[in-house]
Amino acid sequence: MNITARTSVAGVIGHPVTHSLSPVIHNAGFASLGVDWVYIALDLAPNRAQECLVGMRALGIRGLSVTMPHKTDMAHLVDEISPQARRLMSVNTLSLGIDGRITGESTDGDGLVSSLQAVGISPAERSVVMFGAGGAARSVADALLRHGCAHLDIVNRTLAAALVICDYAPDRCAAQSTNDQAAVAAAMQRGDLIINATSIGMGQPATDSTAIPFDPALLRPDQVVVDLVYHPLETALLHCAAAVGCTTVDGLGMLIHQAALQQQLWTGQFPDVQAMARAARAALDGSTSQAPQ
Ligand code: NAP
Repeated sequence: MNITARTSVAGVIGHPVTHSLSPVIHNAGFASLGVDWVYIALDLAPNRAQECLVGMRALGIRGLSVTMPHKTDMAHLVDEISPQARRLMSVNTLSLGIDGRITGESTDGDGLVSSLQAVGISPAERSVVMFGAGGAARSVADALLRHGCAHLDIVNRTLAAALVICDYAPDRCAAQSTNDQAAVAAAMQRGDLIINATSIGMGQPATDSTAIPFDPALLRPDQVVVDLVYHPLETALLHCAAAVGCTTVDGLGMLIHQAALQQQLWTGQFPDVQAMARAARAALDGSTSQAPQ
């Protein structure tokens, strides 16, 4: 990397961002494109999103990834917002136009779908069971529904949050409470694509059978099991699912693909996702805590 006065600057804003994997992933992506860009992590305290946009314009920062706790604030503050980001009221990408206007978009859900497609799995016509109804779950649900999933059961500890997601497509969605074991079992019976979008399993060893969001006895070998958690890469859920014979997909693919989509928005070019994944795996091998985006 040869940083000069002409180098374009991008970065991630969040709080905290000290352990973020994004600089490693994005700089590997920029290197794969051979573009003169550099990516840094910028700690932005809560409630300072407006000041950040002023700074971004003033300094000519070309792109920013947005992570917790700023995704919702940015959705209210940007000059332009994509339809998806508006629907979710969540922005994970800021792009500075040549006219100085800042556009907000959301690449999280499409990142998950791209990561599935990259391993030959299409969400179209699938019956999906998604555990969790937080920010990540909302973007994943939106993308799955846009990509033609046939049915989506959202299972969550707080039923009200699952019902919010049902409103995206009431004819194709159903909300279940985690406590309703019969409903969860029926959903798992219907489901062929199972997704953990809760934080359960994060930072837990793969051998910890209590760190799984549902009874693993409900799994079948014909199911695909996806975990959004990426530290550890092999979560307790994926460990159990592999033992049952399920196809498993870890959370790193989503992290890489949402970043690749951001680089495409900023540079107009799609980076080498394999190079980004290699860099991320090397960084994760050396880390001991869950890294925020
Ligand atoms: P969030 O908005 O805080 O949502 C957390 C979700 O987990 C909620 O549905 C919450 O249920 C549920 N949950 C948390 N602890 C629970 C427990 N002990 N028992 C039952 N349910 C519990 O977080 P998020 O941003 O959606 O992130 C969720 C996970 O996805 C995190 O591990 C994050 O690291 C990961 N993630 C990965 C990627 C990627 O690129 N791979 C991207 C984004 C997020 P309630 O609604 O009942 O509180």
